[in-house]
Amino acid sequence: MLRISELKLPLDHTPEELADAVSSYLKVPAADVRSFTVFKRSYDARKGVMSLVYIIDVDVANEDKLFVRFKGDRRVMPTPDTHYYYVAQAPENLKSRPVVVGFGPCGIFAALILAQMGFKPIVLERGKEVRQRTKDTWGLWRKSQLNTESNVQYGEGGAGTFSDGKLYSQIKDPRHLGRKVLTEFVKAGAPEEILYLARPHIGTFRLVSMVENMRAEIIALGGEIRFEQRVDDLILDGDSVRGVKLADGGEVLSDHVVLALGHSARDTFQMLEKRGVYMEAKPFSIGVRIEHPQSLIDAARWGKYAGHPILGAADYKLVHHAGNGRAVYSFCMCPGGTVVAATSEEKRVVTNGMSQYSRNERNANSGFVVSISPEVDYPGGPLAGLDFQRELESKAYELGGGDYFAPAQLLGDFMAGKASTQLGEVEPSYKPGVTMTDLSRILPDFCVEAMREAIPHFARQIRGYDLYDAVLTGLETRTSSPLRITRGDDFQSLNIKGLFPAGEGAGYAGGILSAGVDGIKIAEAVAQAIVAGG
Ligand code: FAD
Repeated sequence: MLRISELKLPLDHTPEELADAVSSYLKVPAADVRSFTVFKRSYDARKGVMSLVYIIDVDVANEDKLFVRFKGDRRVMPTPDTHYYYVAQAPENLKSRPVVVGFGPCGIFAALILAQMGFKPIVLERGKEVRQRTKDTWGLWRKSQLNTESNVQYGEGGAGTFSDGKLYSQIKDPRHLGRKVLTEFVKAGAPEEILYLARPHIGTFRLVSMVENMRAEIIALGGEIRFEQRVDDLILDGDSVRGVKLADGGEVLSDHVVLALGHSARDTFQMLEKRGVYMEAKPFSIGVRIEHPQSLIDAARWGKYAGHPILGAADYKLVHHAGNGRAVYSFCMCPGGTVVAATSEEKRVVTNGMSQYSRNERNANSGFVVSISPEVDYPGGPLAGLDFQRELESKAYELGGGDYFAPAQLLGDFMAGKASTQLGEVEPSYKPGVTMTDLSRILPDFCVEAMREAIPHFARQIRGYDLYDAVLTGLETRTSSPLRITRGDDFQSLNIKGLFPAGEGAGYAGGILSAGVDGIKIAEAVAQAIVAGG
């Protein structure tokens, strides 16, 4: 196969025009092109003209001659092999089955790949299966009732289940493991377009059924998924893990334990610290969610093309390096979505965002956050970041007035340094509800200062971003894990053999796709360790 990059066509082109563009670029008769597939489609809005930009894989006659003809043209090359190849196969007499703790994207992919290689993993997940979990999560949003073991953070599918389902990442991926993640998602029911769109997303409803389908495949391959099984302790033999203890007193023995805990498993982090597992504090970010009318973002980003069905609801990505040394940036932007209550702990308020596949809610929302670091902001050991988060989340709960209402403020009032007393044209989407107040009362001063400085810069990139009535809802405290459970080149804990820290909670991923990719890498490391007898 031959790959052509940067093939640019007008937004409203026909399929025939794409076919013509392929044969014209290669300067061959149309009949020579046996077939082609779109590997990637992005858009280019430079100079006020919106174009679609393609990477196309072509099955064409006389391919070798074409490679000679196009030698030196960096836009024509052989199609790279993006297939996934398994690194090991389970032995017939598999003695110890690997245990995977957590069934978020990282745990799902660790378990799936292990199962596909024949290792029959046992998954232990503290939360409930996804349908039941959905009901519990809605219990917080609709009735202010939090279930501390079944919520936005905990349960089948992990933290990304109630999300926008954005599926892109900036990780280096020379082995195309991201492609394996996307291919498995499509097999489980995701739309095929996620394989070729530059910024794909699936939305929350589809994620629910995809997670169920992936669970079914793991079970069909001999794996087991046990819900409502919280791991409360490790069974150690010197510096080697021999299994885990469960909250109900049970034990599961294994010499290979994957910890795919997510960033909110604070009680489990505390247990690991007590057990002496090597960890270190790491930087993350804090701030608020900001909501604008989606139409404002569409107009700013797409101009006259706003509303075009191919483009859908517009997103944005913004960064400003503030004078006080802090980076201020947009985080987990959800076009046409809602702000969600994302706490897993009582009497704490945490925001995040989600959307449906259609992205057709009236508001755009995004984290509007400021970087913080352990050296300056929360010195005191690996768990200090957790305490810092908890303190802020408790303050947010109090300022919100209780019942998981979130404190909120109009952007204009925040900029002017005065408390808000009523809403303007933007109706906030956070449920169970918001209390208008002054967010600078609970955000650290350096955050307030950096955020105020960033707004005019952001408004130069997104016209109207500084809308007085845009709503800030707080606080956004769980942008990534506050710690890293450091691992060595063999993917095992630095000081506990057989323990494989993985995914976002361990500090090795940030997002659904990268957590899935890390799950694959961990599955490979576990499989290789088992096969090698380690
Ligand atoms: P998690 O998904 O957090 O999974 C960890 C699992 O471990 C949980 O199910 C938990 O219950 C379980 N667990 C924890 N402790 C124990 C224990 N002791 N015993 C047993 N089980 C345990 N990312 C994107 O890329 N795109 C998005 O659009 C997006 N939107 C998001 C929206 C929201 C509301 C949230 C909360 C997150 C969003 N994210 C998004 C981030 C994404 O969800 C995470 O990066 C990803 O889920 C991390 O995967 P993980 O498997 O490492 O951890």
